[in-house]
Amino acid sequence: MTRRNVFFGMLAAALSTLWKSSTVSSAAAPVKSIDAMQQNWRALLAEGVKVPLASEPLKLSKDEWRKRLTPEQFHILREEGTEQPGSSPLNGEKRPGVFVCAGCGLPLFTSEMKFESGTGWPSFFTAIPGAFGKTTDYKLILPRTEYHCIRCGGHHGHVFDDGPKPTGQRWCNNGVALKFIPKTAKAAT
Ligand SMILES: [Zn+2]
Repeated sequence: MTRRNVFFGMLAAALSTLWKSSTVSSAAAPVKSIDAMQQNWRALLAEGVKVPLASEPLKLSKDEWRKRLTPEQFHILREEGTEQPGSSPLNGEKRPGVFVCAGCGLPLFTSEMKFESGTGWPSFFTAIPGAFGKTTDYKLILPRTEYHCIRCGGHHGHVFDDGPKPTGQRWCNNGVALKFIPKTAKAAT
């Protein structure tokens, strides 16, 4: 390699580094950090509303769950059912607020974490830290990652790796298993 080629090689390497760093920063700038979303989820919780902690487990018998839940909620949360796509009014829910477990009230997602996946199920690209446990299920032969509420064990959905950037996650949740608390909700007195 001649000196001249070495010089151009170095120049090209420097330019490509500059180019890469500028594209990375401009792509990341408008996205609120996932960490910030996860750590500050309480900012979307309606004032005065009390929610349980993940560290306070709720264990009930099948009969007790049957009394507490609607038949549809029971089927999905306690028997790992799946609702019809497009059936949940929460698909179109876009107000600021927090999605909690319909079984036990544990906060699971915020409105900031929701996106329109086009699947007909409420979808999220991340979750509130510590809200879920995971298992692998083989119901459709190919393994899928099932997730459930860490507090009551209620089944919520499956998480896939074809979600939007930056997490690439798609938490596909049954709307029946969720309750939405709008940020503007008044606390029960
Ligand atoms: Zn729960």
